Amino acid sequence: MITLAGLLDDAKCYEAVRQYRWADGVTCPHCGSKTVNKRGKHDNHPERQRYCCRDCKKEFDDLTGSIFSGRHQPLRVWVSCLYLMGLNLSNQQIAKELNLHKDDVQKMTSELRQAVFDNKPEVQLAGEVEFDEVYVTAGHKGHPEAVKKKGGRGVAASSKGFGDGVRSKRKNRRSSA
Ligand SMILES: [Zn+2]
Repeated sequence: MITLAGLLDDAKCYEAVRQYRWADGVTCPHCGSKTVNKRGKHDNHPERQRYCCRDCKKEFDDLTGSIFSGRHQPLRVWVSCLYLMGLNLSNQQIAKELNLHKDDVQKMTSELRQAVFDNKPEVQLAGEVEFDEVYVTAGHKGHPEAVKKKGGRGVAASSKGFGDGVRSKRKNRRSSA
């Protein structure tokens, strides 16, 4: 069976991660230093570059501290999953494309979504907060009385009235039958 993950190789995926993650140069995830030495390849993953920080002396690799770190599935499966999510495929469709169980894909997509949310640039978050504020304020400004009524006793009173009406109707039907 041909799958998207099967057509990709890990080398290309690591290359893509390096291009994206180290766009401004390799940065130590422990202390933020940019004075870093390469330190060979990962023992179990020959495509994964290792580094050693010259400031804090700690070691890390291309995936350290990222959503892809310490995963059972190879990087190409995660990258493929991310790609298919971008195409708006359902978990079921992604599972089929990657030849994985739907429950596994469900876990992967929710973690990836969470990671994307966590890494949302500040500008986007600020924009969202501002939008909420404007929306709420506009509602109050336009119809302050309507907003007060909707949130207050008005709704409760009218739904109680409706309930009574239905009950009395039933009673009427029963008594006439
Ligand atoms: Zn460091």
